[in-house]
Amino acid sequence: MQMLNSINNLKLAKYFKLSEFACPCCKRVMLHPKLLAKLVELRNILERPVYINSGYRCSRYNRKVGGVLNSYHLIGLAADIKVGDINLIELLETCENIDFNGIGFYEKKNFLHLDVRPTKRSRWRE
Ligand SMILES: [Zn+2]
Ligand SMILES: [Zn+2]
Repeated sequence: MQMLNSINNLKLAKYFKLSEFACPCCKRVMLHPKLLAKLVELRNILERPVYINSGYRCSRYNRKVGGVLNSYHLIGLAADIKVGDINLIELLETCENIDFNGIGFYEKKNFLHLDVRPTKRSRWRE
């Protein structure tokens, strides 16, 4: 299925492709422009690659990875990210300055959850 390999292979901004945000199981994708804009801002400040561990999730995949029922990943408002050669605390501080509305700090698994939820700010740590 050559066609499927190129699905969502669409450059959205200088450093991100739509396929990076797609659900791994079905390749469907939703991505809010505000989330993309903040991730681009982060990429520009850090001057190094920002890896999207998890962007959009369909409900089946969200269940599979143990995501919460009303996860913002289900509606294209969230991304879990990883950045090489940077302390997670330092990365967290940079993300705080960009003011993502939701930030989850996953110390053991070494990633941050970032989202642009429309409701009030939320911070958590695991
Ligand atoms: Zn899926
Ligand atoms: Zn997440």
